[in-house]
Amino acid sequence: MSQETRKFEAEVAQVLHLVTHSLYSHKEIFLRELISNASDACDKLRFESVGNPDLTSDDPELRIQITWDPDARTVSVRDNGIGMSKDEVVANIGTIASSGTRRYLEALSGEQKADARLIGQFGVGFYSAFVVADKVTVITRRAGEPTEAGVRWESDGKGEYTLEDTNITERGTTVVLHLKADEDEFLKFWTLRAAVTKYSDHVAFPIRMPVEKDGKPDPTEWQTINSASALWSRSKSDITDEEYQNFYKALGHDFNDALAWTHNRVEGSQSFTTLLYVPEQPPFDLMMGGREERKGLKLYIKRVFIMDAAEELLPNYLRFVRGVVDADDLPLNVSREILQQNRQLERIKAACTKRVLDLLEKVSRDEPEKFATFLAGFGNTLKEGIVEDTANRDRIAKLLRFASTKGDGAAKTVSFDEYIGRMGEGQDTIWYVTADSYAAAAGSPQLEALKAKGIEVLLMSDRVDEWMLGYLTEYDGKRLRNVAKGEFPLDEADKAKQEAASAEAAPLIERTKTLLGDRVGDVRVSARLTDSPSCLALADFDLAPHLARLLREAGQ
Ligand code: ADP
Ligand code: MG
Repeated sequence: MSQETRKFEAEVAQVLHLVTHSLYSHKEIFLRELISNASDACDKLRFESVGNPDLTSDDPELRIQITWDPDARTVSVRDNGIGMSKDEVVANIGTIASSGTRRYLEALSGEQKADARLIGQFGVGFYSAFVVADKVTVITRRAGEPTEAGVRWESDGKGEYTLEDTNITERGTTVVLHLKADEDEFLKFWTLRAAVTKYSDHVAFPIRMPVEKDGKPDPTEWQTINSASALWSRSKSDITDEEYQNFYKALGHDFNDALAWTHNRVEGSQSFTTLLYVPEQPPFDLMMGGREERKGLKLYIKRVFIMDAAEELLPNYLRFVRGVVDADDLPLNVSREILQQNRQLERIKAACTKRVLDLLEKVSRDEPEKFATFLAGFGNTLKEGIVEDTANRDRIAKLLRFASTKGDGAAKTVSFDEYIGRMGEGQDTIWYVTADSYAAAAGSPQLEALKAKGIEVLLMSDRVDEWMLGYLTEYDGKRLRNVAKGEFPLDEADKAKQEAASAEAAPLIERTKTLLGDRVGDVRVSARLTDSPSCLALADFDLAPHLARLLREAGQ
């Protein structure tokens, strides 16, 4: 049969280089990645066979097998899942399909140092094989295709691969790793087994290995080495924190532990299970805003994987959440289009949102330090919720923390509730100032009068603050007001003083007005200041100065 040699896409070579260099200290990750692909392939076949049972009737038990050969110095991962056609092999393994990956690469080629944590989010799982192997062979046949539709792909990971048609009696995919000279540790049952248990115990299909006899595998006797249960379908009390964390790491492609999680089962007219995680640190792409990269929130229906459905299951501002939703009552043949209009799913989405907000509230109450870590990474993303999720606006606002004139320097620790708790008699307004840095906010001359009166002012300096505050005009019955905007409130004594001062300053004001002309709207005597001689103030609907500058810079 014909053999041909092809070149990888340029980016593949780049990714290969990055992966092999940065996964160096986590070599065994390749097993997790190959098992995760095998598991995905079984998921896909199980899903397709719902409408076409013939696909699996000859060999109905979906499974993953791992074995090693000390003489040939190979490790193989095999699955009897969906398999790949020749075109699919070329498309999936010879190219970098997702536009997201391309964008990461562009970003990485700059200053960004490629560390293992980032690589985990690339979706370049397959290429991790080249961390331990100097040659990889993939032998695959798509389910439902004839024996002769098999394909053999092989590469040394250096820019080219070969493709060959071949006969394969069993459907699915085998990945054979020809180990590098110094990777002999992976030729041992216990090394392989330990890595599988560590990373892939939760995989919902049985993972089998042959028993070891005299350092060699005995192909006549296989044992299942994972618990092969969908973790989320077990009862909470039976799951250890370590199991939860390992599941998270595989699901979220994260090397770090999750910050917190919430696992719930809802029974009733509509039953479903949710297991939702909040990561400790933002993934690389979070602020790049891409909706298409939102992987890691998976929809299952009765333990059958349906699709990555982050957008259908959570609002955009909670896009950092990872996890699983398993619904009992949705039709298995749902498409994304149907999902987007499904009323049941809307209810599930509302429930997931509530669970995440409940979780965050609990962490904020019980573990303030952890919560500070969360806010440092995701606080600005959460603020988008003030605009996006009007129904939960107050709950989200309750979670936010700011620097303040009565806070702890630049540290963002003061909540609206804490502010209100400190308010003086008769104060009905939450005051804040916005600027493009903490120093600018804290040093703003606008604060002087309030400071002198002992009134606290929240100091906002994140880019999203101004935008968010356009939507958040009230909290817990208190008005939110920008110190720099509009008429300044005065008590009676102040008013009298100001009128006197205005009369006295009238000639000065006239001269200033003439000098500045139409560069200003008005010139007034102000009660805002105590130390500084003058400041700029804004009309109620003016843009804040740093925002105006931002827009000017953007050519608006
Ligand atoms: P990801 O799993 O994030 O898509 P990978 O690099 O791990 O990225 O895999 C690339 C693609 O190759 C997969 O999306 C899948 O289409 C295909 N693939 C890899 N392994 C298998 C397998 N064992 N069976 C079927 N398809 C596979
Ligand atoms: Mg993968």
